[in-house]
Amino acid sequence: MNRRKFLRIGALASPVFAAKNSLANNFNPITKPIVVSTWANGMPVNAEAWKILSTNGTALDAVEAGAMHIENEIDCCVGLGGYPDRDGKVTLDSCIMDHKANCGAVACIERIKHPVSVARKVMEKTPHVLLVGAGAQQFAVENGFTLEPEVLSEPAKKAYAEWLKKSEYKPVINIENMGAGKEQKKQNGPFAPAFFDDGTVNHDTMGLVALDSVGNLSGAVTTSGMAFKLHGRVGDSPIIGAGLFVDNEAGAATSTGTGEEVIRICGTHLVVEFMRQGYSPEMACKKAVERIVKRDKAKAQTLQVGFLALNKKGQYGAYAIQKGFVFSVKSERENVVHQSKFLI
Ligand code: ASP
Repeated sequence: MNRRKFLRIGALASPVFAAKNSLANNFNPITKPIVVSTWANGMPVNAEAWKILSTNGTALDAVEAGAMHIENEIDCCVGLGGYPDRDGKVTLDSCIMDHKANCGAVACIERIKHPVSVARKVMEKTPHVLLVGAGAQQFAVENGFTLEPEVLSEPAKKAYAEWLKKSEYKPVINIENMGAGKEQKKQNGPFAPAFFDDGTVNHDTMGLVALDSVGNLSGAVTTSGMAFKLHGRVGDSPIIGAGLFVDNEAGAATSTGTGEEVIRICGTHLVVEFMRQGYSPEMACKKAVERIVKRDKAKAQTLQVGFLALNKKGQYGAYAIQKGFVFSVKSERENVVHQSKFLI
């Protein structure tokens, strides 16, 4: 059967069949290596990962390097420069997962610069998957990580002081639609996340997934979580199956947005399972978003969740509840920021 005939039959078939076969590049050659990451500040993150991927390094090393890069930056939502919780403490969540379903994570860890590397140590050196709080910090120190001073970055200090005036926990929907936040971008550079002047809560987790030159998938996530959260709150980001999931047969996915909603549906595991059923990365993300919206339509109007997925062929796609989610892609062919489609 030639390609045109096959596509015509696909278009006439049931919606599920059509959806599965609306994959634009079902017939395209595999794109690898490739790395995709959440938000526009995924561009420098991808560049770091690409140094490893383009020299035949592993997807695992690439995603760790990418995540470490942003952990070094002053960013509202990742690393020790991020916004604190309501007690003024910066608590970090991170996880990493490879092509053999090895995974490690840390949650609510304080004063450690590279939680993603601690997560990798948990994966490689312990029989466990997730360490939290003081125990995670103790493990990090025992493994040679430095305990950093407990100070807020200047932007975090400003935002926290502003937040304290009302002390209301009101996450806002992150809008990063390239045109938005011009003023902030002037101050913070082209890939800076959109900071809100009045200190309202923003979120901008870094999640990245990569396919390396031998065809293995891996992923990593790193975040300071929702700003001004309750002390001890853990979001989706360090939870395997919520903020990140990798299956070397089906694909890999990551998420950003209101973590509680992602955890409720085991978001990235769901996306990967949809890819296993044959859906394109974009359709798989869309179906997971629909699951969230269906549960509580009214609530979904007030929050944002974005999923980003990559399959074994190097096809990628994203979907969000609201407008404003963007993601970055780097391969031999592309080095771009894409706007995600959205449901509402
Ligand atoms: N998903 C993160 C969390 O709930 C927040 C974000 O994406 O920025 O902690």
